[in-house]
Amino acid sequence: MLPKALPAWDYFGKSRDAVGHFDYVAQLSRHHALTRWGWDDHGMDDETFLHRAIDLAADARARGDHPFGALLVTPDGEIVASARNSVNTDSDPTGHAETNLVREAGRLVDADTRRTLTLYTSTEPCAMCAGAIYWAGIPTVVYALSEVDLAAMTGDDPANPSMSLPCREVFARGAHPTAVRGPYDIPAAHEVHAGFWRG
Ligand SMILES: [Zn+2]
Repeated sequence: MLPKALPAWDYFGKSRDAVGHFDYVAQLSRHHALTRWGWDDHGMDDETFLHRAIDLAADARARGDHPFGALLVTPDGEIVASARNSVNTDSDPTGHAETNLVREAGRLVDADTRRTLTLYTSTEPCAMCAGAIYWAGIPTVVYALSEVDLAAMTGDDPANPSMSLPCREVFARGAHPTAVRGPYDIPAAHEVHAGFWRG
């Protein structure tokens, strides 16, 4: 379920097929450029999409990966991609949810479109993922659980040796701005980690 009342194809007065999807995304880019200042208050949408990211984190945990999930959303509230942590199932130490999501976004949408999207993630991006988000040109990041709160739960578990580097500090060094909203106090964002880490 998308939180917006109007399906995209109604909004633009056209049906969306495999080709039309990219026309639609391109229109979203233009639409967003014209109306970007009208989309500042995302409070309710933020919580809706963060709950979806937490659901993805639970999925990751259920399949044997670390409990992290993330998704990318257009200015009109369409989810264009989602990803889970895959560190264990892919034997990939870089398989964090946000980095997996950036790779997927590179395959699905062009650079101009990426610059209109918002990335929602169950937990604050680590330094690696913040770098990937930056290089993808994704301008807005929203997270639920803070890195500090995560570290309090993971303790000295070698599976999550936190770098203690807030994502805002990583983004602040960039040549273009990245807006950050978070943390959000959502109990499920904590609960999805309960009993998972050795710490
Ligand atoms: Zn990461």
